[in-house]
Amino acid sequence: MKSTVSGKSGTWRNWAGNVTARPAREVTPASVDELSAAVRRAAEDGLRVKAVGTGHSFTAAAATDGVLIRPQLLTGIRRIDRDNGTVTVEAGTPLRRLNLALAREGLSLTNMGDIMEQTVSGATSTGTHGTGRDSASIAAQITGLELVTADGSVLACSEKENPDVFAAARIGIGALGIITAITFSVEPLFLLSAREEPMSFDEVTGSFDELFTENEHFEFYWFPHTGNCNTKRNNRSVGPEKPVGTVRGLYEDEFLSNGVFQAANYVGRAVPATIPSIARISSRALSARTYTDIPYKVFTSPRRVRFTEMEYAVPRAALVETLRELKAMVDRSPLRISFPVEVRTAPADDITLSTASGRDSAYIAVHMFRGTPYQAYFTAAERIFTAHGGRPHWGKVHTRDAEYFAGVYPRFGEFTALRDRLDPERRFGNDYLRRILGD
Ligand SMILES: Cc1cc2nc3c(=O)[nH]c(=O)nc-3n(C[C@H](O)[C@H](O)[C@H](O)COP(=O)(O)OP(=O)(O)OC[C@H]3O[C@@H](n4cnc5c(N)ncnc54)[C@H](O)[C@@H]3O)c2cc1C
Repeated sequence: MKSTVSGKSGTWRNWAGNVTARPAREVTPASVDELSAAVRRAAEDGLRVKAVGTGHSFTAAAATDGVLIRPQLLTGIRRIDRDNGTVTVEAGTPLRRLNLALAREGLSLTNMGDIMEQTVSGATSTGTHGTGRDSASIAAQITGLELVTADGSVLACSEKENPDVFAAARIGIGALGIITAITFSVEPLFLLSAREEPMSFDEVTGSFDELFTENEHFEFYWFPHTGNCNTKRNNRSVGPEKPVGTVRGLYEDEFLSNGVFQAANYVGRAVPATIPSIARISSRALSARTYTDIPYKVFTSPRRVRFTEMEYAVPRAALVETLRELKAMVDRSPLRISFPVEVRTAPADDITLSTASGRDSAYIAVHMFRGTPYQAYFTAAERIFTAHGGRPHWGKVHTRDAEYFAGVYPRFGEFTALRDRLDPERRFGNDYLRRILGD
């Protein structure tokens, strides 16, 4: 776990480098008891407490001026229950470690996002998701949670035990307690066939409903300043396994997607006028390919080029219109955007503050290369997303507040009432939570 670097200066920094914090002290508990004791001690000292994952959030969700709880010693698999198809892991376990351990046991999560650097608790707390027609976010695959609450006691929740807490704490944004273990539903390891193919913007948007309906996992990238997209369809396969060839995989994933892309972004940042030409070239760099492999090898890939991101979920039925508005905005603006716009989907779920809570959703993510001003682009994009009742990813840049969320989340009051009950003194509070949830 290399992010969330805390240098000798005591400053904590997130992956994107756009959030820093100076905690009063740091604790790395090695057991649930040690974690409970740390929460109690913080209360005695009048300090707030925040657990951090790997700092991959672009918002200040994990920032604190109080006690920073680090995840490194709370990792590993606690239990695999083959009869019930579940795995219980310590909260600080990186997704990579979980995926590898599950694969060794012939098991897998059903769906996931596009990297696996995050911790299980950090990823689920902000609603990290991939793309799916029938399968939803990682948090939606949780069947049980254990958390330390504000008085230092340990609370277990599931559909049967404390179901009101379970409904909310799967995507708790760090507001309800510190998660110590998570139980996920898992299934026998399966194969996915990926088909990546360039397609025009008009073709993808014109046939989005079919592409979505016909594939278990459909996503695409649109390259601003062009009419070009790259599409990716992942569907279950009976095999045989046909991994991305090592040489070609390295060339496309490392050289084109990371190496050349990074260089192109440096050029674009220095001379923004070159960006549209670079976009036209990079949108054509990747040719069609198909490969078949186990899930995490198909869903995830390394992302070494650093960026800042905003992502909103809109009702799936509003996706095409929203995206066309975004394209029209970029086309008539002086903005120069070197990063593709990513589009994914999720079915409605039953988690109180999930971006897909109670509504079939499509996600639109906008990115800017690290070090490039992103405000003008994100402000214009956010205006379009919010006009469609959009809900921002809790871990990605946005400017919304509690008043807005009360309007777009029918169950918002349910979450804040639970927070009042579990954390009346706001032991787990920070500035970000005050903005999005209210005092
Ligand atoms: C390169 C990159 C790729 C990404 N890809 C995707 C993607 O495909 N899909 C997607 O949806 N998102 C994606 N994200 C966003 C990312 O998954 C989320 O921001 C996620 O929350 C980061 O997890 P983390 O472990 O770094 O947690 P952090 O960012 O460190 O923390 C996130 C939140 O979780 C809380 N938290 C952490 N541990 C605990 C705990 N034990 N108990 C209670 N609360 C806790 C923190 O306090 C904070 O509120 C990506 C981000 C990056 C930088």
